Amino acid sequence: MRQPFPSLVIRADSFQAQGTFAVNQATFLNPDPQVVSELRALLEAKNAGVVAHFYMDAELQGVLTACDWPHIFISDSLAMADAAVRMAAAGAKAVFVLGVDFMSENVRAVMDHAGHADVPVYRLAEQDIGCSLAESAQGPAYRAWLNKAAKNDNALHVIYINTGLDVKAKAHAVVPTITCTSSNVLKTILQADTQIPNLSVHYGPDTYMGQNLEVLFRTLADQDDAVIQALHPAHNQASVRDLASRFDVFPNGNCVVHHMFGDAVARQVEEDYADAYITAHLEVPGEMFALGARAQTQGRGVVGSTSNILDFIKAKLAEAAQEKGPRVLRFVLGTESGMLTAIVRAVRDLLAESGRDDLGVEIIFPVAQDAVAQTGDALGILPGIAGGEGCSVAGGCASCPFMKMNELEGLFSLLQAMGSQDLTPYHPKAYSEQLGGRSLAQVGTEPILYMRHFQRTGQLPAELLELVVAGEQ
Ligand code: SF4
Repeated sequence: MRQPFPSLVIRADSFQAQGTFAVNQATFLNPDPQVVSELRALLEAKNAGVVAHFYMDAELQGVLTACDWPHIFISDSLAMADAAVRMAAAGAKAVFVLGVDFMSENVRAVMDHAGHADVPVYRLAEQDIGCSLAESAQGPAYRAWLNKAAKNDNALHVIYINTGLDVKAKAHAVVPTITCTSSNVLKTILQADTQIPNLSVHYGPDTYMGQNLEVLFRTLADQDDAVIQALHPAHNQASVRDLASRFDVFPNGNCVVHHMFGDAVARQVEEDYADAYITAHLEVPGEMFALGARAQTQGRGVVGSTSNILDFIKAKLAEAAQEKGPRVLRFVLGTESGMLTAIVRAVRDLLAESGRDDLGVEIIFPVAQDAVAQTGDALGILPGIAGGEGCSVAGGCASCPFMKMNELEGLFSLLQAMGSQDLTPYHPKAYSEQLGGRSLAQVGTEPILYMRHFQRTGQLPAELLELVVAGEQ
């Protein structure tokens, strides 16, 4: 009989962990109060803010979540930059970005645009904090794909935010480009199609997400118009089917973490966890995505962004709190395990609010047992062949090795050094190289600003539409 996936049951005042991976995750959910109070004192003394991604190291997230300082925010990448702007506007003297490099670049660009260029942004490592997905857009294959895309009339490049500012800039110079995140990609493409006649839409670099979007468009085209119009009022079966035929995906871009939610993992989820809700990030491979999408149509799951997954868990727990009787709701977590800290916080807030100590939430990590290895360090065990290497092709991994380059110790030492040492190596890259008379940073910020315009107004900006129709950048 195969081994069950590790899991953690969250109750109002206790945890119940099954499997070593979950036991380690649980350890960090009750951080040392001394460490928490030292971090708080340091943040206050330096008047610094911290924005961190949901996928952050569990130890760091545990301490940050317990730290009662107003300038701390943990979220998906879209909300990180807005939080940083709010912190700067409220007087924070610096913002530390805990994530990978495209996130700190995005925060820097948005803060500059919001008039906070004087507030420094710091990353937690001197060396690059890469991302396998971002790297897949840096090579000649992506350039060749874009050059081909540029030959189409009315071509629009929709680029995932998980890419460097230089990549966004160089792509925008070839095909007019708008940035997207997993929470707004579907609506961005549907909206673009209503504003640009005969749109040719090119999505990259995340191949799984692109293929999942193709499936979504095809599935949507078979739904009633009322279902489609709940997503976008100007669309119907015919328009979505037509759009699907003009949708093109970069074929070679992968996130190492989401890549691991493959065939075997999906099969075990389907066969052994039929009673559980299924959550799947838009970046996961087709098998896991299909499970999540099917569960979603039956009200038993969700596919989408990290925020969509968190909102789904909260909504199901709120529904259960309206019903009588003890219950443990089970959720398969089809994304990076760092989400756990935010889930625990949300679940405990809801349980406290409802006064229900007979309810619980079980988070199931679809990590293959043979993908868990001894690391020999204080943590003991990490998913993957070895801690530093990340994930195992043997099947299953739920932890991003790049995100884990952010360490609590590093945050402490940078805060201590702030104001007395030169922290230039910790700034996001400046990208001052010129492209058409402007810096790469300036050009690469434009696709981000187009996305922010869409977020604010629900419309793509006129400037972008003109570029697309003129077929130039
Ligand atoms: S989980 Fe890690 S490798 Fe995957 S897209 Fe995010 S930062 Fe990149």
